[in-house]
Amino acid sequence: MKNIMYFCIPAHGHHNPTLPVVTELVRRGNKVRYFSFEEFREKIEKTGAEFIPCDSFMPELTKEEEDGLKKVSATEMSVVDLRITARMDEFLGKQVAEFKPDVIVTDSVCFWGKLTARKYKIPMVVSTTTFAFNKYSSGYMKSSAAEIMDLMKGMKRVNAELKALEKYGYHEKSIMPLVQNDNYTDTIVYASKRYQPCAETFSKHYAFVGPSLASDYQPQKEHERPLVYIAMGTVINDRPDFYKNCIEALSGENVDIIISCGKTMDIAGLGELPENVQVYPYVNQLEILSKANVFLTHCGMNSVSESLYMATPMVLFPQTNEQRAVEKRVLEMGAGVSLKGDSVETIREAFSAILNQKSYGEKAAECSRDFREAPGPKGAAEFVETAPHLMPEEDKRLLMLDMLPGLLQLLFWVAAVALIIVLPRVTSVKWWILAIAANIIFIPFKQLSGRIIAGRAFS
Ligand code: UDP
Repeated sequence: MKNIMYFCIPAHGHHNPTLPVVTELVRRGNKVRYFSFEEFREKIEKTGAEFIPCDSFMPELTKEEEDGLKKVSATEMSVVDLRITARMDEFLGKQVAEFKPDVIVTDSVCFWGKLTARKYKIPMVVSTTTFAFNKYSSGYMKSSAAEIMDLMKGMKRVNAELKALEKYGYHEKSIMPLVQNDNYTDTIVYASKRYQPCAETFSKHYAFVGPSLASDYQPQKEHERPLVYIAMGTVINDRPDFYKNCIEALSGENVDIIISCGKTMDIAGLGELPENVQVYPYVNQLEILSKANVFLTHCGMNSVSESLYMATPMVLFPQTNEQRAVEKRVLEMGAGVSLKGDSVETIREAFSAILNQKSYGEKAAECSRDFREAPGPKGAAEFVETAPHLMPEEDKRLLMLDMLPGLLQLLFWVAAVALIIVLPRVTSVKWWILAIAANIIFIPFKQLSGRIIAGRAFS
């Protein structure tokens, strides 16, 4: 029996997959203390864990910071995360001394959980509710210009918050090691090995457990008329015009439509609803997905995993870079189509493609079978109980693999400079241009060779 501290940021998508794991840990006789926020108290207490509210440590936010958070700005999220870490430092020091945790399980972007584990040298398991991202799989994440600008503009503010943390004993030089996955940290990923992009490039410190769902629902797709489910998750969902377009696009179709629009939108603003349309602020998504024939989703990791688990093909409408990574993977699996805009016509075309072509449903059913065979919450609980997963024989190889791209790059430039010096007749400008061009062309080969080498090393 172990004492386990759990940490999460205030977001449903980050809590939900942890809950069946915590239930299982408690069932096995472990003592779990879950540090979270009042909004999540009820569902955490249902697991049998002890709930510790952290709302009082939330910092005051300016209007600009609040708006940034609503838009899931990486800068604002990092700034707030770091401020909460500072405000919780003393409290968590006392908690650690009193509870004496054997292991800390922390969300991958919950800095106060990660930094507490590091400060007190407590074994840590990271709970990653997106795909695991390393230098290979992050190729799936295409950032928009606005997201890149946000990161660049926010760098100075984030670094100032990091500096302010030093007096509490946290000496982090940059934000990257706090947000990135690495090959040395025990990490739970709620994707099956087949679904995780570039799975072969991750070490055995990763447990790809598949979706963590507490559900007995089975896919049941036979109805009088197809069921269409539309939901944009729990964060960026206040989109009345978009829902109106969806309703108009499907109004002439012989389908039933359920929309989950979130708790902040005024449903009355959608006007009179056709008889086949029902709109709710929040639904039992798993139950609806078990019956849905198509799901229009914002590509949140949980929503898409739940959809595939319930063999439901999707219309994909991502809003952030992480969601675009999920979109790309679903397209590769053949279980959905992208929505190329939010006009009535494009929405109609996307739904019609899914409803009229069987292959999307068949591919989603294939994923469902794969997900149901994954280790799931039981496997995740076992991974937590047996942490830390020390594999010293692997460490040297991991270090080499992590250094490999840098070494290749260095080798390339040494060769390029040597050629320029040895062949003085050709003007060096031409050679530099050639070297840069060759380097760019070389990128996919470097990626591929890295994946092959990593795959061999970790298999
Ligand atoms: N969800 C739900 N009912 C709703 C809308 C969402 O139960 O009406 C749940 C959904 O099942 C999923 C989570 O909220 O587990 C949303 O997480 P996701 O990662 O998909 O998106 P996010 O809200 O974090 O953007």
